[in-house]
Amino acid sequence: MPEDIILSTSGLTKDFGGFTAVNGVDLKVKRGSIHALIGPNGAGKTTFFNLLTKFLAPSKGAIVYNGRDITREKPAEIARLGLVRSFQISAVFPQLSVLTNVRIALQRKRGDSFDFWRSEAALKPLDEEARRLVEAVGLSAFVELPAVELSYGRKRALEIATTLALDPEMMLLDEPMAGMGREDVERIEALIRKVSVNRTILMVEHNLSVVASLSDRITVLARGQVLAEGDYASVSKDARVIEAYIGS
Ligand code: ADP
Repeated sequence: MPEDIILSTSGLTKDFGGFTAVNGVDLKVKRGSIHALIGPNGAGKTTFFNLLTKFLAPSKGAIVYNGRDITREKPAEIARLGLVRSFQISAVFPQLSVLTNVRIALQRKRGDSFDFWRSEAALKPLDEEARRLVEAVGLSAFVELPAVELSYGRKRALEIATTLALDPEMMLLDEPMAGMGREDVERIEALIRKVSVNRTILMVEHNLSVVASLSDRITVLARGQVLAEGDYASVSKDARVIEAYIGS
């Protein structure tokens, strides 16, 4: 596999009984890029993501990450290799403060057990790093606030901070803009651009203007297959893509 390809799938397939939700998908994600996966409802985007992070086992095909076949690897091992999915793996504890949430994620990275009863003093050494991450996602004003009290968009920023705590080389973002108002969309868009420096991002996103402004490359899925691939200008003009969206 060429060095500049960080993740690739070949012939990736998922059957649910007689129904093939993902059907022979070949995808190559370039190192350092922001790559978007789009497509009409039911196209197989979520199933594809679940195959990548091993929430689901593929029926056929292979997944290679950094030259290593991870098709049969366990979810925790994949995260350890640097491929981390945000918004699902990184649970946020609602009653705990923003800072504590990030600190727990840092503990997890170090392999510490979750120990809520540990004294504050014992946790102090991680504070500085946790604060740095909180600041990086623009939440410095809310460090002591329980996560539950954050606005929806800021909760997502916190989730990004807890994912960053794992220091991923590649982040999988599952609909980062889902359910957000315009201000939050702008904030999270800027944040994704910022965290994409020195990282690879693969995201499923419905907001096409966000996809257009963030993505280096776009893969369009329809009925479980790759329908088109390219930059936004080329896929948005593709007659098959337009038809797939209109027909959905
Ligand atoms: P998307 O995320 O693009 O909207 P999904 O991956 O959620 O698409 O779904 C693709 C297709 O697979 C849909 O038709 C959906 O109904 C079907 N599907 C998804 N998960 C399952 C499942 N666990 N069992 C059966 N069918 C499923």
